[in-house]
Amino acid sequence: MLSDHDQKILPRCPRLGHEITFGYCRRETGGRPCRLILNCWWEQFDVRGFLQAHLPEDEMAQVEQAHAAAPPAKIVSLMEIIDQAAQRISGEKPGGASG
Ligand code: SF4
Repeated sequence: MLSDHDQKILPRCPRLGHEITFGYCRRETGGRPCRLILNCWWEQFDVRGFLQAHLPEDEMAQVEQAHAAAPPAKIVSLMEIIDQAAQRISGEKPGGASG
């Protein structure tokens, strides 16, 4: 069943920075798998084989295409950290006082 591994937990999502379940990763992109699902889950179980067995062919092809195009996980993690820092900085207005 497609939901068989949904309760499995990854200690840290490289994009969100916290614990996450396979169920989330499997539906992260509008109900479809996150583009990094093969990168993130291959050490936990045979995620490619599992998805191949359960996803329609066109969805699996998208997963493989996304995997081929995805940057390495460490780069993704760095990009997310930089993005979060940029958002924090842009939210902090210099000077504090208006006028
Ligand atoms: S597959 Fe996507 S949502 Fe899941 S842990 Fe990896 S980056 Fe995060």
